[in-house]
Amino acid sequence: MSKLKDKVTVITGGNSGIGFGIAEAFNNEGAVGTITGRNGTTLKNAVETLGNNFIGVRGDVTNLDDLEDMYKTTVDKFGKIDVLVVNAGGVVDGVPLMTITDVTEEGFDQYMNLNFKSAYFTVKQSLPYLNDGASIILIGSNAAYRAAPGATIYAAAKAAVISLARGLSLDLLSRRIRVNTISPGSIDTPVFGKMVPAEAVAQVKQVYIDLTPLGRQGTPAEIGKTAVFLASDDSSFIVGADILADGGMTNAF
Ligand code: NDP
Repeated sequence: MSKLKDKVTVITGGNSGIGFGIAEAFNNEGAVGTITGRNGTTLKNAVETLGNNFIGVRGDVTNLDDLEDMYKTTVDKFGKIDVLVVNAGGVVDGVPLMTITDVTEEGFDQYMNLNFKSAYFTVKQSLPYLNDGASIILIGSNAAYRAAPGATIYAAAKAAVISLARGLSLDLLSRRIRVNTISPGSIDTPVFGKMVPAEAVAQVKQVYIDLTPLGRQGTPAEIGKTAVFLASDDSSFIVGADILADGGMTNAF
C-alpha cells in the first residue's frame, strides 16, 4: 500500500539535491503535487523524471508573490495541499559562506532571508491553502547543533528554523497540522559545487566524510525516506520533533 497515495504535496527546491530526493520518494509512494525552484531547465527535467505526476512552478521563495502563486497554482490544479516541504535554501548564489570578518550587512540579510525568513513566510503563505490535518516538514541542518566555523549565519538561521518549527507545531495543532523538521548532516548534492570551486569539491566532501562516523555522505534518497515517514500517518503522534539524519556526525567527538 502506497503511504502517500493521492496526497497533494508542495516541495520547495524540488528540482535539485535533497528536494528532488524527497520528490522522488513521494512519487514512489503515490503522491502528486508541485515542485518549485527558480531554474526552469532543472525544473522541467525534474518534472519529466517524476513521470509528470508533479508540476513545476518557477519562483523565488524570498518573494511573497511567488509563494502565493505556487500555492494558488497547486490548488487550482489539484484542489488541496496535504503536505508542505520547506526545503529551498542553502548557499546564496554568488555569495560564499563567510567568516565574521568578511560579512557585509547585505550578505547577512541574504543568508537570513533565504534560510530563515523564507521558511517562515513559506509556511505563513501556505496556511490559507493547506488542508486541516496536513503535515509540514522543514529542512534544518545538523549545523544548528555543531560549531560551524565560517558558516555561522547559515547555522544560526537553521537553528532558528528548528525553533520556529517547534513553536508552530503548537500554534497549528488547532487545525491538526503537524510541523516537524529534518536536520541532515552531509548529503551528496550539488550544493558543494556552489560552496567551493569545482576542483575543491572532492576535498571538501572528504572533510565531511571524515567527520561522519558512518564513513560516507548521506543521499537525497535517504532524506526522502525520512520525509515520507513525517508526511505519512506512520508519524501521526510526532509533533515539533527534529530528526537528525547525519550518520552520527553531530554526536561524534
Ligand atoms: P541544492 O543546492 O542542491 O538545492 C537547493 C534548492 O533550493 C534548489 O532546488 C534551488 O533551486 C532552491 N533554491 C535556492 N535558492 C532559492 C530561492 N531563492 N528561491 C527558490 N528556490 C531556491 O542543495 P541541497 O539539496 O543540498 O539543499 C537543500 C536544503 O537542504 C537546503 O535548505 C540546505 O540548507 C539543506 N541542507 C543540505 C545539506 C547538505 O549536506 N547537502 C545539509 C544540511 C541541510 P533553484 O536554484 O532552481 O532556485
